[in-house]
Amino acid sequence: MDWENVFASRSSRMKASEIRELLKLLDQPDIISFAGGIPDPALFPTEEFQQAFTNTLSGEKQTAALQYSVSEGYVPLRQWIAGQMEKLGIHCSIDNILITSGSQQALDYLGKLLLSPNDTALVTWPTYMGALGAFNAYEPVYDRLMANGNRSAAEYRDTAADNNSRVKFAYVSVDFANPTGETLDRPGRERLLDLAQDLDMPVIEDAAYQSLRYDGEAIPPILALDIERNGHIDKTRTLYCGSFSKTLAPGLRVGWVCAAQPVISKLVLMKQAADLHSSTINQIAIHEVASKGFDKQVAKISVAYSARRDCMLSALEVHMPEGVSWTKPEGGMFVWLTLPQGWDGADLLARSIETQRVAFVPGHAFYADGSNRNTMRLSFSQANEETINEGIRRLGMLLKSV
Ligand code: PMP
Repeated sequence: MDWENVFASRSSRMKASEIRELLKLLDQPDIISFAGGIPDPALFPTEEFQQAFTNTLSGEKQTAALQYSVSEGYVPLRQWIAGQMEKLGIHCSIDNILITSGSQQALDYLGKLLLSPNDTALVTWPTYMGALGAFNAYEPVYDRLMANGNRSAAEYRDTAADNNSRVKFAYVSVDFANPTGETLDRPGRERLLDLAQDLDMPVIEDAAYQSLRYDGEAIPPILALDIERNGHIDKTRTLYCGSFSKTLAPGLRVGWVCAAQPVISKLVLMKQAADLHSSTINQIAIHEVASKGFDKQVAKISVAYSARRDCMLSALEVHMPEGVSWTKPEGGMFVWLTLPQGWDGADLLARSIETQRVAFVPGHAFYADGSNRNTMRLSFSQANEETINEGIRRLGMLLKSV
């Protein structure tokens, strides 16, 4: 069978990332990895989940837990999420919330809902590589979103027109972004809403790391600011994507979209067609664990991750050569390094693995156009402080030898 001949044209954009393939090879025990942006399993609320699954399978919820359920998601979980949204200044009802299988599924659905081939998606340079992967299947072109407001609506419109295209949405990872660790400040969020209004487009607000703030003042979500402007969530243009992956456990695959009701109705139809609903038992277990101790769990992981972040930032001060700069995140899991012009993160990764046994993600993978090869992403979520110090010391040796 000549499979390439039968695959739909959209599948040509679905490519294994060379970086992911390379990183798969890295689970040898002597490698210090700052590559994977994933939670530390030692911090999972394992006992709480053991208890929740036992309760769910032995109590009155037993039949429901193993049965098909509604596409919108488990009602008590949607109620709990609506309560959390309220605390962030997002007044909404459960009709504004759809449970998804991780926020990754929400990104796929929003791409499917909004993008026709050759439509323009505005993304920051760099952006979350998984968002590019989700949107790519719907064959968009990308243009560079200047989240600081340095480009006018007319410029975006003209660039799209040059490509016979139309701007369809802006996507932003707002708090402690993947990959940079940076947070869009309140004026930046307001300017983005102004731009969205001028271009009459939705804003996809990726809030995957929203709860992981270790210091500094919390900034209202774009959706909260949008509600402030328009008076009611059903009149807003912001599509908020939340996740339990970074706070409770990614393996259960539970996330959500919070948005105007007409969008949720359409996404519900999409979910019915795609997978009917997210795992019932996982939603019940997440609800039980979250409603009993979400804040405590967030406090626990914040203590651990903020110590690791501090450790990584101090080690960078000590070991990095002149000409290397990095972000100082107030939360999340990532620090972003910019190296002198002409240096290449991918080449350095190969050398780093060979000579220093330290792994990271080369930055170009996060650019829609593959540019800015002189960057790299380091994650501090998985290594302990001793390992972080040693890994950054070795990375410093490598960079000093360039
Ligand atoms: N958005 C961002 C910015 C992420 O970093 C991730 C996970 N790496 C996701 C979305 C997807 O997470 P999940 O599907 O587990 O909710």
